[in-house]
Amino acid sequence: MQHFTRILATLGPATAGLAQIRALADAGVDAFRLNFSHGSQAEHAVRIGQIRQVEQELGRPLGVLMDLQGPKLRIGRFAQGPVVLAAGASFRLDMDAAAGDAGRVQLPHAEVFAALKAGAELLLDDGKLRLRVTRCGADFAETRVVVGGALSDHKGLNVPGVLLPIAALTDKDRADLEFGLAQGVDWVALSFVQRARDVAEVRALMGGRAWIMAKLEKPAAIDQLDAILAEADGIMIARGDLGVELPPQRVPVLQQKIVRLAREAGKPVVVATQMLESMVHAPVPTRAEVSDVATAVYSGADAVMLSAESAVGDYPVRAVTIMRQIADEVEADPSWHAGLAKVHGGNQASVPDAICVALQSVAAFLRPAVTIAYTATGASALRASRERPMTPILALASDPAVARRLTLCWGMRPVHFPDRLRRPHDMIAHATRHARSSGLARPGDFVVVIAGLPFGKSGSTNLLHIAQV
Ligand code: PGA
Ligand code: MN
Repeated sequence: MQHFTRILATLGPATAGLAQIRALADAGVDAFRLNFSHGSQAEHAVRIGQIRQVEQELGRPLGVLMDLQGPKLRIGRFAQGPVVLAAGASFRLDMDAAAGDAGRVQLPHAEVFAALKAGAELLLDDGKLRLRVTRCGADFAETRVVVGGALSDHKGLNVPGVLLPIAALTDKDRADLEFGLAQGVDWVALSFVQRARDVAEVRALMGGRAWIMAKLEKPAAIDQLDAILAEADGIMIARGDLGVELPPQRVPVLQQKIVRLAREAGKPVVVATQMLESMVHAPVPTRAEVSDVATAVYSGADAVMLSAESAVGDYPVRAVTIMRQIADEVEADPSWHAGLAKVHGGNQASVPDAICVALQSVAAFLRPAVTIAYTATGASALRASRERPMTPILALASDPAVARRLTLCWGMRPVHFPDRLRRPHDMIAHATRHARSSGLARPGDFVVVIAGLPFGKSGSTNLLHIAQV
């Protein structure tokens, strides 16, 4: 089995400890997500250390993605436990820190009041309750309850239709980001991105120390999809919040569109949230969940993600095994790859694009066992992955951080390859040897090597060589 689609699994209390992380990796996890909405920095530091230890033991890079909490809006507390809001009742949100009741509660976010207008819709507790703003000012909003229900302390608030004048990072995010980068995380996921500028702002803080994944979970971000895609290194389709802020039936259509655009741009795209949700408590997924994972694989997404299933679920390793089995089954369907070939990004009259078009034809014609990409910055490997060739992509990365970042990308088998080679001849000899020792090619197989000469310059892919093992 070749395993083209990558698996990203969230760590949490259900998967604490070296043995659990090793079991997850053995079951097929390529990269781990650390959710900074939960857990302390100290807990995440322990996890990162354990992932690096498992990586050493397994001899293959494992990716670490830190997911920043972002500007998640929350209400304050209630004086006497949860309240019940009835449809039609009025309810007030304000800046008063006093504990709330059935008539009002604190919303400690002046930026929200500044952006609200009468008629705006507010969603509470993952969209379970809906309020409509009737009147508002600089520090309050009076609302009418449209859909009622119970409401308890610190529940989340979504404001779907409104572009909020809030910064991309909170103070907590800034502190977490510095911590994570110092710990050597490979990817940073930004929550509630609203505009491309949010991504650019964070990039300016990061000095290239990790790749940035923009989480698409706000309608405002969908409106600016192209600009965000251009600015980010990768995309997460964060269907949890997206399906709250938009009618859930819009999500599958957007998912297809986002996967297609990300693939055209050659940027990794992760389909996330509730993929095997029932496995939080059940040993088998529902048929619908199996279909959902399969749909993501058919569309050529780079990775599928587990959240609560692996972080707090009763069957974390099983969930990974089942996800892998679903992906393997789809990848063995002869129509799978034909379907992938349909998405084709606008190739430009550039040398790297010409090499990659050639790669497609060579792959179709000679059926090589593996595509080998020599990559300094990851660009050559990503470019090969974008073609979705019918072969695994052995990425020989001179920088170990690049090898780890590539773990999230479709078809990728990244390896840290420290040797400094000068002559193409040595490189091809090494590449062929690697393909063989890694089990990706057998004697007699063809392999295709792509690289950029001189080595070490990004975006310079200009060599394609066919060798026989
Ligand atoms: P979260 O993001 O798990 O951090 O909320 C994913 C989502 O909203 O789908
Ligand atoms: Mn979210």
